[in-house]
Amino acid sequence: MAEEVKEVTEKKKKELPIAEVTTCKSTQQMLRKAAEDGVETAMHRAADMKACPIGADSACCKHCAMGPCRLSSKDPYGKTGVCGASIDIIASRNFARMVACGTAAHTDHGMTMLDVFRGVVQGEIKDYQIKDEQKLLDVAEGLGIETEGRAIKEIAMDLYEELERTYTQVEGEIPYANRVPPKTLEKWREAGIVPRGAMREIMEIMHRTHMGVDQDYENMVKQCSRTALADGWGGSTSRCGHGLFGRETGEHHRQRS
Ligand code: SF4
Repeated sequence: MAEEVKEVTEKKKKELPIAEVTTCKSTQQMLRKAAEDGVETAMHRAADMKACPIGADSACCKHCAMGPCRLSSKDPYGKTGVCGASIDIIASRNFARMVACGTAAHTDHGMTMLDVFRGVVQGEIKDYQIKDEQKLLDVAEGLGIETEGRAIKEIAMDLYEELERTYTQVEGEIPYANRVPPKTLEKWREAGIVPRGAMREIMEIMHRTHMGVDQDYENMVKQCSRTALADGWGGSTSRCGHGLFGRETGEHHRQRS
């Protein structure tokens, strides 16, 4: 048994054709260093991975206990999943869940920043201070918060409450929608894709992608757009980190770890 494991491990260690896997010089340099040090990277593992053909076509669904259901891209409409989902709906569900996951990750980052920001403003966190007051005032004014003649702490608390809506708002347009170029916003409104709050959009995408709910891939893609916009425009709350840590530092990323 030990010999078999060793054989498999040895097989995995075949040389990576570095110039073929990336044209990026820095990445090539990193991969050469990894090779010298005997370190395996995701690129080694990717080169060694034979993709599941049904998964590669996004024709497999395991969103409920009646599956997994396997359809075939060679005969895409020959059958449906047990719940009646066509290959179009299965592929769109799979994509939608990736959008939900990416948005959740970015949103949770922004929310963690906001937790720290609230802690600093309320005086519970002493290790950080508001370093760049001008940036904080710029962000607050951009969101329509009155700043004239007000204490910075008071403005910061209003800013916190406004930014919190980016995540928790259940109705209306996400706060940063007021920064979207007017013609673009008009198009989004026409298409019905202006996000509400990120949590609401992620929740809805998870609901829609559940068995027996949304059976129209166009609806699904629409919800993907709304969720992706909540990610892009909601993730902008990391700008409060610039007010906290200063504009040029990477501290707003470091403080999460
Ligand atoms: S949601 Fe439908 S297609 Fe997916 S596993 Fe369940 S029954 Fe199969």
